[in-house]
Amino acid sequence: AADQKPHRALRVLVVANQKGGVGKTTTAINLGTALAAVGERVLLIDSDPQGNASTGLGVPHSKRKITLYDVLMGDAALTDAIVHTDLPGMDIVPAHADLSGVELELGQQARRSFKLRDAIDPIRQSGSYTYVLIDCPPSLNLLTVNAMAAADAVLVPLQCEFFALEGLSQLVRTIELVRGSLNPNLEIQGVVLTMYDRRNSLSEQVAKDVRAHFGGTVYATVIPRNVRVSEAPSFGKPVLVYDLKCAGSQAYLKLAREVVVRERDRRAKAA
Ligand code: ADP
Ligand code: MG
Repeated sequence: AADQKPHRALRVLVVANQKGGVGKTTTAINLGTALAAVGERVLLIDSDPQGNASTGLGVPHSKRKITLYDVLMGDAALTDAIVHTDLPGMDIVPAHADLSGVELELGQQARRSFKLRDAIDPIRQSGSYTYVLIDCPPSLNLLTVNAMAAADAVLVPLQCEFFALEGLSQLVRTIELVRGSLNPNLEIQGVVLTMYDRRNSLSEQVAKDVRAHFGGTVYATVIPRNVRVSEAPSFGKPVLVYDLKCAGSQAYLKLAREVVVRERDRRAKAA
């Protein structure tokens, strides 16, 4: 019977970049939706106190009674905090503003960096999801450290702008620090260029530099700057639902296929 098929191991991807406004949340929402559209079962964890991913997916405040805050504080299981979205194959653990207090409240508690990893552990075993995407705040604080300690790999959105490479080196150092201490197996799934503007020669130059530096780590897919992408969250919809045909939606679908292929290749190598 189908339900006796051994389930494929869950992959936990953290969407991280300490810079704000580079497309983390947009990528978490829309890559998540695109992965669900190609048949994956996706859980998005909103680990930013601003809760933009929760809002962007149309989760009303009335459905944010149990949130990631309660999970990290040990007052709820991750499964208790899961909210189903309108999209088949896409669930979310919403965030609440009180998430910003976690750093202080956890203080010097033992395993303070492993709260999220411990919370995700049960669903690694359950087979309910094939991907967890974690949306991070724009800093390298305890929430981001928890996300990196819990993740199998980092997915880095990079906006094509002047200081992009500098910021990326800082992130890479952080990933190396986390590898050296909390999570030796943390990989980089890839770097995705976001808000690419064809008419802007700087976009093109930055993209070239980033590819020269990071080679095949950078996805072939580039996310274009597209007004439909920025409009969608105000309707509480992923852009793929808001306007499937627009360039932004099509780019996120392409990115999802690339992510899936990378994962398939990785599993083949490991086998
Ligand atoms: P972060 O989570 O890194 O802070 P966001 O995903 O919130 O960044 O994006 C920052 C802003 O840029 C948002 O207003 C978002 O709607 C907009 N944006 C992100 N990606 C695109 C895109 N491809 N085209 C147009 N606007 C975008
Ligand atoms: Mg964000």
